Amino acid sequence: MGEFDLIKNYFEQPQTDDDFVQLSIGDDCALVSVPENGWLAITTDTMVENTHFLPSISPQDLAYKALATNLSDLAAMGAKPKWISLALTLPNIDENWLAAFSQSLLQTLKDYNVTLIGGDTTKGGLSVTITAQGLLEKGNALCRHQAKVGDLIYVSCTLGDSAAGLQQILAGKKALSFEEKFLQQRHLRPTPRLALGQGLIGIANAAIDLSDGLISDLGHILQRSRCAAEIDLSALPLSASLLTLHDRTQAEQFALSGGEDYELCFTLPPENQPLLEARLKNLDVSCTCIGRIVPAFEGKWEKEKCGQFSIRFLRNGEPIDYSAKLGFDHFKE
Ligand code: ADP
Ligand code: MG
Repeated sequence: MGEFDLIKNYFEQPQTDDDFVQLSIGDDCALVSVPENGWLAITTDTMVENTHFLPSISPQDLAYKALATNLSDLAAMGAKPKWISLALTLPNIDENWLAAFSQSLLQTLKDYNVTLIGGDTTKGGLSVTITAQGLLEKGNALCRHQAKVGDLIYVSCTLGDSAAGLQQILAGKKALSFEEKFLQQRHLRPTPRLALGQGLIGIANAAIDLSDGLISDLGHILQRSRCAAEIDLSALPLSASLLTLHDRTQAEQFALSGGEDYELCFTLPPENQPLLEARLKNLDVSCTCIGRIVPAFEGKWEKEKCGQFSIRFLRNGEPIDYSAKLGFDHFKE
């Protein structure tokens, strides 16, 4: 089977019902129309074997996750996903693999009402690159640079599950118990928080999706917004499964420094709290306030103790004693 048959057999879809798509797979470019009062949000994510996923991953999970991580970026901007293109590099043509991969991809696209409009297919080490495009109302994006001193810091759902799930997968652990299944699924099948992202438009100041871990990703908001943060460790939302299989210190470490949760972290002016509560009633995800934005640190002591991340940690409202051994390694860097 050649490249063109491969595309036709596995990725070309019968007529799309997306009125924006003027021309889909088959020409040199796809053509889409963009609403006059709209902005296009564009993001790309690559997944390379042995770097971003293990060779043991199923084609179904790989397709799902490659798409979900891109949709998560759109969610973090508050954009509504519309189209993707897919650049696929394959070591060989394995029809069983391709059938499973494309079925999972096309089903997930359908679930999110997104259209595959083009791509590229090449030979080489297995890698999947997806470029996703979404729509925003002009001027209404959630950016990293607009957090304000006094904002409350929220995260969606629970943190640390994915890192704990990955640890099990790396250890070759089969998911037998409910907790193991839950954590491994959280790693393999993260949920892009699209409805939440769109619901935060107009009420949140800044947002990011958590791909590298809370400390690092919140750090991007702080750096871009030129401010610092106070985070209360006792407020971190941790799942029952995580706390069943790990002690609190380890669970906090996963939540702070583990990656790939793909939850949203956002900052909200306190006066918008009732608006957030109202919007959350119509969504199927919880959000937890874990701290607040404070002025950028100036003192030498804070700079030394809080490191490059500009985050001061509390527990039950009390500043943590930095001389005590902290449960996370990032702090020592
Ligand atoms: P070109 O050489 O003009 O870039 P290609 O021959 O690479 O085009 O691809 C032919 C058509 O198939 C194009 O419309 C391209 O967007 C689409 N395409 C190629 N690979 C994929 C893929 N993996 N998934 C979806 N569409 C693809
Ligand atoms: Mg061409």
